[in-house]
Amino acid sequence: MSPSMSIVLYCGHLKPSHFHRDGQPRLIVGAGFGGIYQLYALRQLGLSVQVIDLAGDVGGTWYWNRYPGPHVHTPFFASLSDPSAGAMSDTESFVYRFTWDKEDLQTYPWTHHYIQGPDVLQYLEHVVERHDLRKHMAFNTELLSAEWSEPEKLWNVDVSTGIRYKVKYLITALGLLSRQNYPDIPGIDTFKGLKCHTAAWDERIELKDKRVGVIGCGSTGVQVITAIAKTVKELVCFSRHPQYSVPSGDRPVTPEYRQMVNANYDKIVDQVRNSAYGFGFQESTRSFNEFTPEEREAIFEELWKQGNGFRFLGGGFNDVSRHSLPPVSDTIGPPRSSTPRQIIKQQNAINSMLTGCRLPPIELPMLQRANSSGKRSSRLYLIQ
Ligand SMILES: Cc1cc2nc3c(=O)[nH]c(=O)nc-3n(C[C@H](O)[C@H](O)[C@H](O)COP(=O)(O)OP(=O)(O)OC[C@H]3O[C@@H](n4cnc5c(N)ncnc54)[C@H](O)[C@@H]3O)c2cc1C
Repeated sequence: MSPSMSIVLYCGHLKPSHFHRDGQPRLIVGAGFGGIYQLYALRQLGLSVQVIDLAGDVGGTWYWNRYPGPHVHTPFFASLSDPSAGAMSDTESFVYRFTWDKEDLQTYPWTHHYIQGPDVLQYLEHVVERHDLRKHMAFNTELLSAEWSEPEKLWNVDVSTGIRYKVKYLITALGLLSRQNYPDIPGIDTFKGLKCHTAAWDERIELKDKRVGVIGCGSTGVQVITAIAKTVKELVCFSRHPQYSVPSGDRPVTPEYRQMVNANYDKIVDQVRNSAYGFGFQESTRSFNEFTPEEREAIFEELWKQGNGFRFLGGGFNDVSRHSLPPVSDTIGPPRSSTPRQIIKQQNAINSMLTGCRLPPIELPMLQRANSSGKRSSRLYLIQ
């Protein structure tokens, strides 16, 4: 045992009465979607379980990714009520939820086609309360090490609160995006201003009228830029490679749409489980090379209008994301009609700088919004 360990417990908060069935406690690390489901499923079997998470509450990656994000995606919807903004899902709301609670699936409300950070957190908290799972969870508790002891036939798990768990079953539900990845930029430590990672966002940060640099213009960067451009004094966006960003097609959900989804949930779940993407759209079975350039362009144009980056990848052709295809201009085509080149030119002329790019990024709504404040202060540096 490490000298700093002050307490040794057999599965922390569990009382002997919890040791049902085989008498062996389980430890789950992570209280995101994965950990919550594991906990629920094991509790359904009557097994004793403890969940720990470094985070202060449930949510997993959504607990950490509290950066500001836009909600509305077209001028038309800008006039409608704007629900809590934050990081946005790529998967549509009807799919991005647990399917094992059928009643909840039918009744839990979602207002938009995509779900945002605060709403995901609210949803997960709701699930935890509804199934009385919180009592099995301990937060602000980091897994430091886990070692299998052959003589004991147990895992010795040391956590940051000084407890050592001894468990037969250790289930890691650590997620794939729960650690911050800080760029290894020489000299970054000498930066005198405030640094903040989107995956460790401090909601008290006030960006209004500040000079802000955003490193990275992938899906997170695009969302942050779009959300903060209106209020910051100056915005400089650093991007090593140009990104091809596709509109999400987000919009409010109508009662008719919700009714249609509810009536078809069994089929939807079945389709999702048997699909490669699991995104709830019908994937194409046809190869890119089966089509003429004109047909491809028409298909991409249609997908662009429908929105969703994954649909754009897999909805039209079965091999766009798998093959090493020629450069973007030969495959995905030129910027789509909904984002005419003129806008890029215009934006460049006014105040956006696209430097070092072979191709412009295609998420023009981002540029439009970034500059719609009339402040003429946003500069977009795209460095390849
Ligand atoms: C902005 C954003 C949008 C996304 N949108 C989508 C989407 O639309 N569709 C989709 O399918 N996926 C999306 N994802 C991916 C997302 O990671 C998964 O959908 C899902 O939330 C993963 O759940 P999880 O439980 O597996 O892991 P996580 O939610 O990552 O939870 C892991 C938990 O483990 C905890 N943990 C990690 N290490 C330790 C340790 N050593 N000790 C204690 N606790 C630890 C973390 O604190 C975290 O709470 C998105 C991710 C982000 C960041």
